[in-house]
Amino acid sequence: MFSFKFKKTYMPGGTSLPHAKDTASLAPVRIPCPQSVVIPVSMHIGAPAIPCVKAGDKVSVGQLIAEASGFVSSPIYSSISGTVKKIDSTISSSGAPVTSIFIDSDGEMTPYAEITPPDVHDYASFIEAVRASGAVGLGGAGFPTAVKLDIKDTSRISEIIINGAECEPYITSDTRTMLDRSGDIREGVELLEKYLDAKKIIFGIEENKPECIEEMKRINEGDDKVSVVSLPSKYPQGGEKVLVYNTTGKLIPEGKLPIDVGTVVLNCTTLAFIASFIRTGLPLVEKCVTVAGGAVNEPKNVIVPIGMRLSEVFDFCGGFSCEPRKVLYGGPMMGICVPDLDQPILKNTNAILALTESETPKETQTACIRCGSCINACPLHLDPTAIARAYKKRDGALLESLHLGLCMECGCCSFVCPAKRPIVQRNRLAKGVLRKHIAAKPKG
Ligand code: SF4
Ligand code: SF4
Repeated sequence: MFSFKFKKTYMPGGTSLPHAKDTASLAPVRIPCPQSVVIPVSMHIGAPAIPCVKAGDKVSVGQLIAEASGFVSSPIYSSISGTVKKIDSTISSSGAPVTSIFIDSDGEMTPYAEITPPDVHDYASFIEAVRASGAVGLGGAGFPTAVKLDIKDTSRISEIIINGAECEPYITSDTRTMLDRSGDIREGVELLEKYLDAKKIIFGIEENKPECIEEMKRINEGDDKVSVVSLPSKYPQGGEKVLVYNTTGKLIPEGKLPIDVGTVVLNCTTLAFIASFIRTGLPLVEKCVTVAGGAVNEPKNVIVPIGMRLSEVFDFCGGFSCEPRKVLYGGPMMGICVPDLDQPILKNTNAILALTESETPKETQTACIRCGSCINACPLHLDPTAIARAYKKRDGALLESLHLGLCMECGCCSFVCPAKRPIVQRNRLAKGVLRKHIAAKPKG
């Protein structure tokens, strides 16, 4: 392994959070086959996939049921074997309607007979395989992985960063990938070296996971292209801009992507999945999900077919000890509220949390006391109070000059605010004003 050379300064700001990673020591258990699944055709950033099955069709595990509909899109595969019951509109957690494929199980979980490992022999066939696998950012981002890796000129890549930070409280699914699937991760590293011509591969892992750091060092022993970096346990260490800076010293400018500074960031579970797909040909049909929170009787890491309803997953974990105050997809900082427990496990679901009153106390919002804590906590030096004033005036130009576009909605500002101001929510609304302002600008 190569040693870490750049002057080690970390991005300022961020906040220390209780880790609550009680499931870290629990290897994932496979949930029994559900009686049915509901699989939305939009579980990724980009164009929804287009169903290629119809009601009454028999399907098997790993069979294509919806085709990618554009460059930024992703194919979808059946996670169980059985019969397509119907294709209908459902309401997603965001409140938007989404086409979903309802499949009744035959109880067999029969693999699709035509599954074969893809023929991967060069860069183009590697990208094609990643596209066909249905991979999206499995750490929660949901961006189609093939699009991220489709760089064409691989000489632009100086380093690939493997994101093992897992900085949100409660979530331990990436931790379990690093411990239980380290062989897949190593295979993935070799694929990146071979097909993306990766010169440097840097694992970024928070220091609160020493066993993961040790395991990643062990599997990459003797590989001079690989380095494993122990990062401070300070949220949002896994945020792309923060991770790139803290592992390479490079700042991603506003409106730019990691590749614009020669970097590609891949989540460790995404990498493990790509390796297993290329070895077996089994596309993305299941997820390792952390099921946790004070309201869950038996918190666990569970391997769940995509499309299984959350209610069944919670039932498998002993149900609730009390009425949850809030149920989330993802962690408490960036997670999305689940409106009802019929919502399905999605491709990018890494955790479902059922939180109690004491974990999410009702907080009364008061006036800003100009303490500046939000500014100090922001890793990107944004000024949420100035953004709030600009938003109040609906001043798009001012929001642009305040670099609102950089806001990654990490929630550090809201977390530290003594007045409990809804800063992230307001920033999201302000981004709408900013988008309108940018769209109205003369082109060219
Ligand atoms: S302003 Fe945005 S980037 Fe800064 S702390 Fe708040 S949510 Fe995070
Ligand atoms: S942390 Fe809250 S109270 Fe303090 S300046 Fe920011 S918005 Fe105002």
